[in-house]
Amino acid sequence: MQDIRLKAFWSLLFWAFCCLLLGWFTNAHVAWLAYLSGVLAYLAGHLYWIHRLYQWALKPSLNFIPNGKGIWEDIFANLYHEMRRHSRSQSQLSSTLERLRHATSALPDGVVVLNNRNEIEWFNEPAVQRLGLKRHHDENQPIYYLLRQAEFVEYLQAEEYSEPLKLKSWRTPDVTLELQIIPFASKQRLLICRDVSAIEKTEVMRRDFIANVSHELRTPLTVIGGFLETISDMQGEVSPDIQPYFDMMQVQTTRMRRIIEDLLTLSRLENNVTLKDEVEIDMHAMLQQLHRDAEALSQGQHTVTLHMDTKVNLLGSYNELMSAMSNLTSNAVRYTPPQGKIDIYWQMRGEEVVFTVQDNGIGIESHHLPRLTERFYRADSGRSRDTGGTGLGLSIVKHILHHHQASLLVESEPGQGSCFRIVFPAQRILPA
Ligand code: ADP
Repeated sequence: MQDIRLKAFWSLLFWAFCCLLLGWFTNAHVAWLAYLSGVLAYLAGHLYWIHRLYQWALKPSLNFIPNGKGIWEDIFANLYHEMRRHSRSQSQLSSTLERLRHATSALPDGVVVLNNRNEIEWFNEPAVQRLGLKRHHDENQPIYYLLRQAEFVEYLQAEEYSEPLKLKSWRTPDVTLELQIIPFASKQRLLICRDVSAIEKTEVMRRDFIANVSHELRTPLTVIGGFLETISDMQGEVSPDIQPYFDMMQVQTTRMRRIIEDLLTLSRLENNVTLKDEVEIDMHAMLQQLHRDAEALSQGQHTVTLHMDTKVNLLGSYNELMSAMSNLTSNAVRYTPPQGKIDIYWQMRGEEVVFTVQDNGIGIESHHLPRLTERFYRADSGRSRDTGGTGLGLSIVKHILHHHQASLLVESEPGQGSCFRIVFPAQRILPA
């Protein structure tokens, strides 16, 4: 298409030339009159097409788009192509949407589409069964009118959807639902609802099984350990040939007792999801105690230094935090060869407070780091066993930190040493 301004210019120039010729054969008046009538007719033509365009724009339809004349032919042709392209992409979009709806309907999980005011726009069949939504009746209703549980309303308003929310179903109490909100587009949300009763039951069974087995094993082991101690105390009663076996049995019994104690601690931590004994912890006293314990464990083989860079206290469980922090310091002692250096730091980092244990010990290869907090995961199993490790320490630390909304950061370099950091959020900090 040519530039329409150029077309208009050439048309008017051509008409001026014709009128000039006319003036040549007649006179100037006739030429001017002809020129003015031509320009007026030209403007009237444009007015007519503008009117047609306006009429069409009131009720735009692809079938009734005018044909136009001159430059208007190009304008309407372009409009026609643009409209066709638009209507094609719109029908493609609606068929994609339709397919998406069919696919979502076939999902085993309940799916609810919410708009920016948390009103229900659409939901699939499983959402009807799991959440008790009624088709045609509940559409356009705010979701919190229908799911009124306080935990859900809080979850919806908190706008922090990285973790799903587990709820007992309000319709069938033995059903556990997992609700997850996924934001999409501009402030729209997808609510996914999953029935996790079977997983939940297996998880409870697993937890009960470990707790029961550990509990049942504790008494016989205490008895065996007691007898072994009594026998080894009986001077001269045990022949020197079998004394090494007795010693080995004692070491292994102690190890098993430690594993059972750690398993029971883990079960307790898993069952108590929220903290019950929150107190203000005097961090100065606690860190001094940790320092003394680490020095006692090291028996003078390492240089253990405490750096108290801040005096803030913590709000939490004394026993739990003492256990988590001493796990890190005892690991540092156990995985650092004699003459090594261990530094314990208590520092502010922005709004947060950080507890750090840094050693220059054996270090950990990077591929082990993401798995260190798994139960029984050991980067160096030989050393862990030799130093009395159970492989459960960091798993216990992880659970305790979860209770305190804190996080564990690990940096390590094989042969250079490790740095374990616990970062406590601002809401856990109390001025000393
Ligand atoms: P364990 O009782 O075996 O020490 P943990 O759960 O406390 O179990 O630690 C898991 C593993 O992480 C350990 O087996 C060890 O390989 C590694 N680890 C933990 N702390 C350190 C450290 N400071 N230096 C080197 N390795 C460490």
